[in-house]
Amino acid sequence: MTTAALPSFIDPARIGPWGMFLEQLERVEPHLGPLAAWIDTLRHPKRCLIVDVPVRMDDGHIRHFEGFRVQHNLSRGPGKGGVRFHPDVTLSEVMALSAWMTVKNAAVNLPYGGAKGGVRVNPAELSMAELERLTRRYTSEIGSIIGPDRDIPAPDVNTNEQIMAWMMDTYSINQGSTQTGVVTGKPISMGGSLGRKDATGRGCYVVAREAMQRLGMPMEGARIAIQGFGNVGSAAARIFHDAGAKIVAIQDAAGTIANTNGINPHALLGFLNGNPRALLDYPEAEAIANADFWGVDCDLLLPAALENQITAANAGQVRAKLIVEGANGPTTPQAEDILNANGCTVLPDVLANAGGVTVSYFEWVQNASSFFWTEKDIHDRLDRVLTEAFQGIWDLAAARKVNLRTATYIMACSRVLEARALRGIYP
Ligand code: NAD
Repeated sequence: MTTAALPSFIDPARIGPWGMFLEQLERVEPHLGPLAAWIDTLRHPKRCLIVDVPVRMDDGHIRHFEGFRVQHNLSRGPGKGGVRFHPDVTLSEVMALSAWMTVKNAAVNLPYGGAKGGVRVNPAELSMAELERLTRRYTSEIGSIIGPDRDIPAPDVNTNEQIMAWMMDTYSINQGSTQTGVVTGKPISMGGSLGRKDATGRGCYVVAREAMQRLGMPMEGARIAIQGFGNVGSAAARIFHDAGAKIVAIQDAAGTIANTNGINPHALLGFLNGNPRALLDYPEAEAIANADFWGVDCDLLLPAALENQITAANAGQVRAKLIVEGANGPTTPQAEDILNANGCTVLPDVLANAGGVTVSYFEWVQNASSFFWTEKDIHDRLDRVLTEAFQGIWDLAAARKVNLRTATYIMACSRVLEARALRGIYP
């Protein structure tokens, strides 16, 4: 990677997630034909906003938090991407996450660019009132660049539908009119969409089903190991289970459980009853060592927790024929090379977890028309969008003899750069 490609404020010695994205661009560049002439566009985020978020704490003193909103690329439409509240948020991370949103939105052909936001804060240390004041001030500070036609935030790590409600309310008050379409992931009662909560897990299932058909893997009785039993992992577990698959191992922050006869995710959710720490006490499975999770005998592995989980150190243990990346960035490039060499197919995050943003798009469309769809409509349309995207990417991978991640990047980057080339440079 050439340091000349880096924006001046990035330290080339510690480039972090943004450096990972630049590496991914290097892998796709040789496949872009004449459009490669425009690829530097993707190496330069269109707009990075850093804001000071002063908050009056409950005891009266004022704390300052650092907030970000990055619009990586807007060639195909308004920016779209979540807002993360986490103490480790950095500009490099938000830039990379916004770039991955550019790729994800284009991969499934949504009419959006890529954006992402974040505040460097540990929300667990704030009272509800402090969290509300932080959210409202952050929204107001980024208010000049967001909007239903400009950039539409959504929930991400540690943000939820209540926070989206405060964001929508703050933006609307500043604008002087109710603007439901400024954020997605809202509560149903204020313009949220049916089917949004399970959408990412459902999307994982849809693309896995398509891949399994082509790989000759029956869904009935397929053995699945899942890391992460939160929003994505638990929804995917229920949907796979209901389709006849068998969940043979689950790992979350509390530990790992396994049962070769299958774990019923509905029963497990009932047992946990909102207390994930009780996972190891579940009587219908046995606790196993965390390190043994990666080597569990299974057909499909679904990482749905954190980034950097499948690395060169553990990729050799994986016995699954198919990996479905529910999480963002769970597999390092070195690990993917090992997996591919061992005959394992990886469905990349930018395709596999695109179900959430797809239903966010449906929410935005419903808000714009004030006409709301049934849950069946949502499921059917989500299935169609992801099945079509999968088919195009699968065929491209076969035609170019590349893996599915590279094919997804070729598909997505070509769409973005074609729009870029057609729009041209102003003035
Ligand atoms: P979540 O907070 O609901 O669940 C996270 C899960 O990961 C929990 O079960 C937690 O116990 C587990 N976990 C945390 N640390 C762990 C560790 N060290 N080892 C094993 N498990 C651990 O989060 P989520 O919304 O389900 O998101 C999971 C991943 O999916 C993230 O990478 C997120 O960026 C990605 N993603 C989420 C969505 C969405 O719609 N929620 C959309 C696209 C991508």
